[in-house]
Amino acid sequence: MLKKVLIANRGEIACRVIESCRKLGVKTVAVYSDADANAKHVALADEAVRIGPPAVSESYLKGDVIIAAAKSTGADGIHPGYGFLSENPDFVEKVQAAGIRFIGPPASAIRAMGLKDAAKKLMVEAGVPVVPGYHGENQDGAFLKAEADKIGYPVLIKARAGGGGKGMRKVERGEDFAAGLEGAQREGQASFGDPAVLIEKYVTRPRHIEIQVFGDDHGNAVYLFERDCSLQRRHQKVIEEAPAPGMPPDMRAAMGDAAVKAAKAIGYSGAGTIEFIVDSSEGLRADRFYFMEMNTRLQVEHPVTEMITGEDLVEWQLRVASGEALPKTQDQLVLNGWAFEARLYAEDAPKGFLPATGTLDYLALPEATARVDSGVRQGDSITPFYDPMIAKIIVHGPTRDAALSKLAAALDQSRVAGSVTNVAFLAALARHPGFVAGGVDTGFIEQELANLIAVPEPDATAKAIAALASLGTLRPRKGNDPWDGLPGWRLWTAARQFALLEHRGERFEIALTDLGRGTYEASEAGAGHTLRILGLEGPHLRLMVDGRTMNATVVEHGGEVTVFIDGNAFEFAMPDRLADETEGDAGGDKIISPMPGLIRLVTAEVGALVTKGDPLIVVEAMKMEHTLRAPRDGTVESIFVAAGEQVVDGSVLIALVPEEKA
Ligand code: ADP
Ligand code: ADP
Ligand code: MG
Repeated sequence: MLKKVLIANRGEIACRVIESCRKLGVKTVAVYSDADANAKHVALADEAVRIGPPAVSESYLKGDVIIAAAKSTGADGIHPGYGFLSENPDFVEKVQAAGIRFIGPPASAIRAMGLKDAAKKLMVEAGVPVVPGYHGENQDGAFLKAEADKIGYPVLIKARAGGGGKGMRKVERGEDFAAGLEGAQREGQASFGDPAVLIEKYVTRPRHIEIQVFGDDHGNAVYLFERDCSLQRRHQKVIEEAPAPGMPPDMRAAMGDAAVKAAKAIGYSGAGTIEFIVDSSEGLRADRFYFMEMNTRLQVEHPVTEMITGEDLVEWQLRVASGEALPKTQDQLVLNGWAFEARLYAEDAPKGFLPATGTLDYLALPEATARVDSGVRQGDSITPFYDPMIAKIIVHGPTRDAALSKLAAALDQSRVAGSVTNVAFLAALARHPGFVAGGVDTGFIEQELANLIAVPEPDATAKAIAALASLGTLRPRKGNDPWDGLPGWRLWTAARQFALLEHRGERFEIALTDLGRGTYEASEAGAGHTLRILGLEGPHLRLMVDGRTMNATVVEHGGEVTVFIDGNAFEFAMPDRLADETEGDAGGDKIISPMPGLIRLVTAEVGALVTKGDPLIVVEAMKMEHTLRAPRDGTVESIFVAAGEQVVDGSVLIALVPEEKA
């Protein structure tokens, strides 16, 4: 067995590999860019080596620097993860020339499958079905158009060097061919430095079904059944499952045999995936699957295969790279139950799936009910440099229905504050009757998009909870009685306070009346609800609203309040009313009374650290109460007033330690 493995990757996959190394007693070396100096994968590894600035071209793609790091730490193996250098045959050769094991296939196998056109020719020779089309050398526009006409529309033009869904154009009619060709060539050139394309028949009702294969250096190869990755957006996988719904046993066997044949044809060793496109227009049939491409690495969605087989694929990779034979033969592999994986990303689905960045101020993932593969922890940041993946949520159940229910529940319990995520989109997918029925094709998300990205509006309860939080009512205080510690609102029972909040650009005001003993009346535009706080434990709130008991989680972070309730996350900004009304000093050192009034409450304490948006003091004027908040992060230097004092307009109430002194 290898003694020490360097992981040439970051994020969840680096953490995943470290976990299996640890299980086998293999030491680990992480590499990191400056953006990842404090990342989870660095913390988990036994050793870590800095490899450069944040940009991937300066760090995770620097093969020579990574090999030097392996040598200097005495690593005898390099695991490439997925993406980055994982399918780069030149890197594999350099690793081997340095006397280090590459945990993956031989360079020759990567080269054979590296270009989609050459791979297809090879597969035809090996007797594996491929999509009808043209995958030759001739790149003349008129010639390619004639080929497309022969194949019959619709066709798919693909950059032969393409990957990750890039460099593809679907063409519906002959007159659109030239434009599609130009697009695919341009993208192929820009992303992969190669404008050459191939043309395929566009399969109708296409399903993406792929086979996990494994080979070793002793001539063995097996398949670990299929994964259905048809749920895609723009050719990118969103939720994957194993096995494939409706898969007939004869088709599974035929696909498995074809995949093993493909792997053997190129002398494959290690983990690989053969992707097939399936024509499901007449259901799943053993003569309707076609080779699309091979990914010569561990796949993002490998966990669903692990869940249904009970095997650890990274362990298999490490054993095979150490020269051992495959741990199991084909006959010993059994398929058990059903598994799903959902890819949780920092992206704004309603805004066209815009990738997001941010600090994960609050991160609670459903570790108790699901397998969670993640490369980030609470407090970590999603930076613009890398893939904005937060976690993969993986579930297993005895049946598809059972597993899918578990997935929906696990997504409801996935709570992130500090960045938008696609969790609502994933949860909507997990509950969509079309997906629940099983067997969707790759066009499903596009067809259902409007329903899947509908943004739920916060209801009166969510707004009332945000209002309570924004007024500081839910800050934990010492003491056992949950409302004993609340900041003393009941001293002035029935006082009304107003909270100004903003949700997705829309402002509203909630009036809160303290009825005592943790009970409040919240009203917006006249409509009132009674809320009673039953318990408060950390961010978790148990409350009764108009007689109905419910749970919510409330997180205040950086001037915002996020309320998690009924599987939804609502992020509320707390706009500073006074900053709007009075000019100046926002972001400064002093908190100034914007009007003459009575100091109702001082929550600030001298010497305390405060975060921008924290309530510091409450002033009452004209029977209205105004909460004055910290204009920035800082430390309270002095407090000039006390509750009960009358102040004049413009009085300095509190001073923060000036920034230049801090
Ligand atoms: P999977 O089928 O495992 O989802 P993808 O093809 O989506 O695989 O790619 C997995 C990872 O590799 C992603 O992070 C993706 O961005 C990256 N990737 C895929 N193809 C390429 C490529 N040609 N160049 C660079 N990165 C790629
Ligand atoms: P990439 O290397 O970018 O992953 P693939 O060749 O694997 O490219 O194709 C990506 C996706 O495009 C597939 O998962 C499938 O949804 C769709 N696709 C590819 N080929 C076809 C085809 N011939 N007909 C219909 N859809 C296809
Ligand atoms: Mg693919």
